[in-house]
Amino acid sequence: MERFDVAVIGSGPGGYVAAIRAAQLGLRAALLEKHRELGGTCLHVGCIPTKALLESSELYWKLGRGLQAHGITTGRTRLSVAALLARKDRVVSELTAGLTLLMKKNRIPVLHGTGAFVAPDRVEVSAEGEVREIEATHVVIATGSAPVALPVLPFDGAIVVSSTDALRFARVPRRLVVVGAGAIGLELGSVWSRLGAKVTVLELLPRIVPFADKRAADALRRALEGQGLEFRLGVRVTGARIGKTGATVLFENDRGEKDSVRANKVLVAVGRRPYTEGLGLERIGVARDEAGRIAVGPDFRTSVPGVFAIGDVVRGPMLAHKAEEEGIAVAEVIAGSPGHVNADAIPSVVYTWPELAEVGLNEEAAKARGLPVKVGRAYFKVNGRARTLGEEEGLVKVVAHAETDRLLGVSIVGPRASDLIAEATVALEFRGSAEDLARTCHAHPTLSEVLREAALAVAQRSIHG
Ligand code: FAD
Ligand code: NAD
Repeated sequence: MERFDVAVIGSGPGGYVAAIRAAQLGLRAALLEKHRELGGTCLHVGCIPTKALLESSELYWKLGRGLQAHGITTGRTRLSVAALLARKDRVVSELTAGLTLLMKKNRIPVLHGTGAFVAPDRVEVSAEGEVREIEATHVVIATGSAPVALPVLPFDGAIVVSSTDALRFARVPRRLVVVGAGAIGLELGSVWSRLGAKVTVLELLPRIVPFADKRAADALRRALEGQGLEFRLGVRVTGARIGKTGATVLFENDRGEKDSVRANKVLVAVGRRPYTEGLGLERIGVARDEAGRIAVGPDFRTSVPGVFAIGDVVRGPMLAHKAEEEGIAVAEVIAGSPGHVNADAIPSVVYTWPELAEVGLNEEAAKARGLPVKVGRAYFKVNGRARTLGEEEGLVKVVAHAETDRLLGVSIVGPRASDLIAEATVALEFRGSAEDLARTCHAHPTLSEVLREAALAVAQRSIHG
């Protein structure tokens, strides 16, 4: 039987990064993947395909509205959904090929098949009726997550769909209902709205992106409404009448008032759950936490010695870069180093237009922890670069400790927030203060000057506000 120092189950951003880091540290690592291709949710049905569609749909949307303000006139804009989907698939397959090369470069054997525990240090790998067994001193579970289904609105793959199906609609639905105003609902809702669908978003809570700063989320909602998305907030879906070409989704508000909306497609995006089916966890007694995730300590050890878990299958935000950080840390722990992930400095981004990005504690989260806070705000509309780009919507909020000035968190809704948040993440990681950000010279004219202005505003000394 083949023996490895580390067997990693699952080749998403958590698993493949763990395997590479283990190999770099001199460990003999194997990567197990049940799908034909490496890359997991993020590469095949998550981060990358959504961003490819967001880019294409943004271009289409902008062109459709004309570039007259720039003195540019174009002909009639036409859309080929088939070409747009083909481009997305090409991006994914090029990156998948790169991943296969990375495994070769790092001499990591890839075992295709479903991994299941026979014992804590023995995993059987089954593919197309063939079963082989391997031994590993350490096993890392990185099997990711799957969409949560709504019992009153189960997926049927045709009308009521998950994010995976909503990445490949053959034509633009005339009307799309999205259930859930989180990252998936807003990103995919934006894609199909920009391409021409009338999109209605039904959200259980009275606001969108519940994890984000309220003011930033409200600003994003207003911007999306301006783009034509309709929001019905504080409503509960109670059922649906499904027909051949669409559905009528029934919902009610917290006063019990009933309403309904018709749609050709219904995207249910109400969260994801850890995916552990077929792993045989019960056979070796791996404990779960209160939310059904694999329970792990700070060093990613499960309740079973030698077995570790990372990524979407454990606590924390379900984000690719969080899974990657944990992949690096778990390999380091296994190699005997102090692998660590700073849970307070993991940025999160919603890639709508404008984008919403956050890191650390937003104002409400800091107050909920009982921390004394002071807040600085600055707006893109007074920023020279934002004006030249014609992207003036949004704001930056910097939250600092009221007594020590230590930076606690930053929320940004605005153009390229996904890139701007990196500076705030570095400042947090270095335990910087609002004053540190405020005294850092920022190139002019750049969008990053808004972050500096917000840091200046913490001490009520903004220059342009
Ligand atoms: P996964 O990427 O889910 O990989 C798990 C792998 O394990 C899969 O390949 C699966 O086939 C394999 N597997 C499962 N069981 C077994 C088994 N028994 N044997 C062998 N293999 C097995 N995150 C971001 O940070 N940014 C984004 O922009 C973003 N966009 C997203 C958009 C969508 C539509 C979705 C659905 C998710 C998005 N995410 C995004 C979340 C991100 O995809 C996940 O957080 C990330 O993929 C988690 O990585 P992971 O390694 O834990 O698991
Ligand atoms: P989410 O948790 O981000 O949002 C789900 C939304 O659905 C919430 O607003 C919630 O209040 C709402 N909801 C829950 N039950 C509901 C119900 N019965 N009716 C109406 N609304 C309901 O989940 P998601 O958008 O499905 O995304 C899943 C995971 O994937 C998230 O953890 C997210 O971090 C990750 N993801 C990240 C990105 C990104 O980083 N840009 C993009 C997509 C997905």
